[in-house]
Amino acid sequence: MSILSIALPVLLNKNFDYLPPTGSDCATLQPGIRVRVPFHGRQLIGILVAVLSTSTLPLHKLKTALAILDTEPVVPADILRLCCWAATYYQYPLGMALTLALPSQLRQGKNLPLAATKLDSKTNNAVTSPLLLNEAQQTIVNAVTKLGNNFAVITIDGVTGSGKTEVYLHVIQQLLHKQRQALVLVPEISLTPQTITYFKNRFDVPIITLHSRLTAKERLLAWHNAQLAVPCIIIGTRSAIFTPLPKLGIIIIDEEHDLSFKQQDSFRYNARDLAIWRARDANIPVILGSATPSLETLHRSWGGRYKYFTLPQRAGSAQPPSFNVIDVRRQNLADGLSTTLIQAITNHLQAGNQALLLLNRRGFAPVMLCHDCGWVAKCQHCDVRLTYHMQPYRLHCHHCDAQQNLPTKCALCGSKELRNWGIGTEKLEISLSKHFPAVNIVRIDRDSTRNRHQFTKVVQGIHNGQFQLIVGTQMIAKGHHFPNVTMAGIIDADYGLFAADFRASERLGQLIMQVAGRAGRGTKPGQVWLQTHHPEHQLLQLLLAGNYQLFAKTLLQERESVGLPPFAAMAIFHASNKNLAAVESFLLKVKALALKLRYQVRVLGPVAALLPKRASRYRWQLLLQAKHKAVLQQFLTQLTSVVASVPGNVSMRWSIDVDPMDML
Ligand code: ADP
Ligand code: ZN
Ligand code: ZN
Repeated sequence: MSILSIALPVLLNKNFDYLPPTGSDCATLQPGIRVRVPFHGRQLIGILVAVLSTSTLPLHKLKTALAILDTEPVVPADILRLCCWAATYYQYPLGMALTLALPSQLRQGKNLPLAATKLDSKTNNAVTSPLLLNEAQQTIVNAVTKLGNNFAVITIDGVTGSGKTEVYLHVIQQLLHKQRQALVLVPEISLTPQTITYFKNRFDVPIITLHSRLTAKERLLAWHNAQLAVPCIIIGTRSAIFTPLPKLGIIIIDEEHDLSFKQQDSFRYNARDLAIWRARDANIPVILGSATPSLETLHRSWGGRYKYFTLPQRAGSAQPPSFNVIDVRRQNLADGLSTTLIQAITNHLQAGNQALLLLNRRGFAPVMLCHDCGWVAKCQHCDVRLTYHMQPYRLHCHHCDAQQNLPTKCALCGSKELRNWGIGTEKLEISLSKHFPAVNIVRIDRDSTRNRHQFTKVVQGIHNGQFQLIVGTQMIAKGHHFPNVTMAGIIDADYGLFAADFRASERLGQLIMQVAGRAGRGTKPGQVWLQTHHPEHQLLQLLLAGNYQLFAKTLLQERESVGLPPFAAMAIFHASNKNLAAVESFLLKVKALALKLRYQVRVLGPVAALLPKRASRYRWQLLLQAKHKAVLQQFLTQLTSVVASVPGNVSMRWSIDVDPMDML
């Protein structure tokens, strides 16, 4: 008797047993093929996970599958293993995880193209030659070469502009000679045409890009080509980690600290951690590169689990930027700008250079309030203030996306004395244009760069000198190489020092160092100017000394003393409902069940999430913490199976975030 165990795209944490379609030869059925099955009056396409000889259900209850769609697996064995591991680790149904791993057209039952088409190797004409590596770079390349075809995690902790990319290129070059494939994962925002061109100019092999903005057809083609093109380079964002690559020789994660590697909803995987698992499974090296490595990575590197290399100096002739702090206490700030900062900008612009200003808050002003009674405009659906925008005029909720016209009078007292308070990037841009009327200013944030095309144009405009002054959110901090930018200004360095999220100071440090890294990348030296109310703060002092490693060590000591990651394994159990009391009582029941399981796991809460209400739903959570990941894993697997039986579960939305990156 053969039984097909099938992963279906439904939110139930199990696989489903079916009888094979009549007449099918079960000996030929391989895991990873697609099967069409009946499911509660619908038809679904699932992935065959295993052919079993028994079922936990009585045979007469099993339905018969409708059709076998493939002769060869569309999900190769290694990708199936990766998805199985990820589904278990992140407590997410395997069938749904596979759904995200596969191109949508395959999920819908379309067939693979017969042959790969339009591989761009012919049109690809390498025009640049490898740079001569400096000693520190060469050491890393040698170490990777020595590893050959063996698993190891290599950390490259290299200051901005130290030539990490050049190291990747050399390592990749060697692999291509051996007829292997290289997978390069980059943050969402850095997969620009510039990045791709950079690779295309160096290598004669196909460069296949995979990111969220491909059409379904392009994605299927890229996915398919990746399996056939040997050698080749795949450059992609987070989900490219699921690409089948039969000759994979190395995985490179650039800017490994970047948040965009972690999916923040549904299947909450971290592509960096999946990459490490996949590399171990394939027995190949994986490189984690960053100027500001995450505390997790540094902890493992310094503890000897990863091979740790530093590139302490900028490559070529570029010098590290100098740091200058502006103590803004008791100073008159014009829309957040001190006279010292204005003067610094003036100096750099007059020298014919470009300057870049970071303000991590989009919109015109973060608050709109009534001057007579103090009323503050809040979102009707979320427990947050609405942001005042000018382009176009509106109030906008940055959490649920709700928008409304600007009120003409106070909702509480009817007064017309409504004011906006605080500064966002829009206000900063307008204010700067008054200070510098003759200067071309460009703003980079999610509002000004809604589509990739706009973003590309702006980046080009900065490169060719069309803009002299650049204002933006963290989007401007990432990976760009603008040789003529000599100044980076940080408008407000304080918000990250006292935030509720335990990762806030780590993020602030990374952001400051990354923004600083945009200054002085060419031949001219760079300067960083940072405004703060806390110039004496220890963490800021370390950053100002340009010492990210000491900054990280200090934070790691703090984390260790209070038992936070990476010194503990953490997960959040989220629940949300339109009824506040229902969420709380549901979580109390879950907590009681959790405690009954008797694991060495701390269960804290229930507490309201940092964002306690979003889109009309109240959001509460339990914080789960254990000394070891394995213990937390076993515990979570048990917990999810018992939670399914909690009354009130039907109307409750709940999810588990393993290794959470934010506490929202
Ligand atoms: P990172 O990725 O570490 O920020 P990049 O690889 O982008 O740094 O290198 C920064 C700049 O230094 C680039 O312009 C690059 O061409 C140059 N560069 C890198 N390695 C060398 C080298 N060995 N010799 C000369 N210039 C180099
Ligand atoms: Zn009022
Ligand atoms: Zn809202």
